[in-house]
Amino acid sequence: ATPAATMVGSTISATNGVLFKGADILEKARSVDTVVFDKTGTLTHGEMELTDVVVIDRPATDGGIESDGGVVEASVDEAFVLGAAASAESSSEHPLAEAIVDEARERELDVANPSEFENVPGHGVRATTEYGETLVGNRKLMVDNGIDPKPAAAEMERLEGEGKTAMLVAVDTHLVGVVATADTVRESAKQTVSELHERGLEVVMLTGDNERTAAAVAKEVGIDPNSVRAEVLPEDKADAVDDLQADGNRVMMVGDGVNDAPALTTAHIGVAIGSGTDVAIESADVTLMRDDPADVLKVIRLSEATLSKIR
Ligand code: ADP
Ligand code: MG
Repeated sequence: ATPAATMVGSTISATNGVLFKGADILEKARSVDTVVFDKTGTLTHGEMELTDVVVIDRPATDGGIESDGGVVEASVDEAFVLGAAASAESSSEHPLAEAIVDEARERELDVANPSEFENVPGHGVRATTEYGETLVGNRKLMVDNGIDPKPAAAEMERLEGEGKTAMLVAVDTHLVGVVATADTVRESAKQTVSELHERGLEVVMLTGDNERTAAAVAKEVGIDPNSVRAEVLPEDKADAVDDLQADGNRVMMVGDGVNDAPALTTAHIGVAIGSGTDVAIESADVTLMRDDPADVLKVIRLSEATLSKIR
């Protein structure tokens, strides 16, 4: 076989769009026994589409949402739920936010930049919009703000069971609806997981997304339910990798986002998806230029070829 790699400056560039940041990486990769994948943007395309807008009915006694003058406004409908969510998200750069804003603009709803905005990492956003004090995010965001997410429980579970990311929308302390986005699994993800398993490697999924959505995606790609770490906060992803390594595992972490950068650094080998953020790429030992999880197999195979050459 031809030599696995050729030097390009300080970067070693292997064939077929896999970039190695140092000469020692292939050798280091030899001892990897666990491959940890970020879900969104890595196993999936990370291109979220808004699929559902659900109005959550409130008891009639609740009387609707009151405007400043105490006048009860027109009842909450889909346009209200999506318009409020999109206005709040218009100041966020999260992929979920983009999906919400795009769909609202497509439906020609009222989307105005909020006068106040706060990003709550791993949970959602809080903003003052034309619709009122608006919250968009997960159950924890609602509970932390004194809003009971229970009236939406059945809808949340249904959407999450479909592998969608469902987000609660509240306006002026009232839960008004749920919006959900769908993402699609990358074509090669399932095959990649299966070959890693065949090679005796442990495969783990790490995500900030909720348990049910994560489980649905894990099932689709063939990752064991016990190997899913869901609802991991952005700042805790590196700790999750650390925990695995403390248990004696040699971890290859594969990710794409800003959130993933500390985990990529912590892992024995960090692998970034090439279309991911600059921060992720800077933190990684290896970059997959083609955004194809199957290229993880190339790294593993090349490292084994290196071993046989040394022998
Ligand atoms: P991931 O690991 O998938 O990139 P994050 O850590 O960014 O996820 O977010 C975790 C969860 O927090 C999301 O699944 C979503 O429920 C909620 N969330 C985060 N950011 C937003 C946002 N801008 N709008 C609504 N919900 C959000
Ligand atoms: Mg991601």
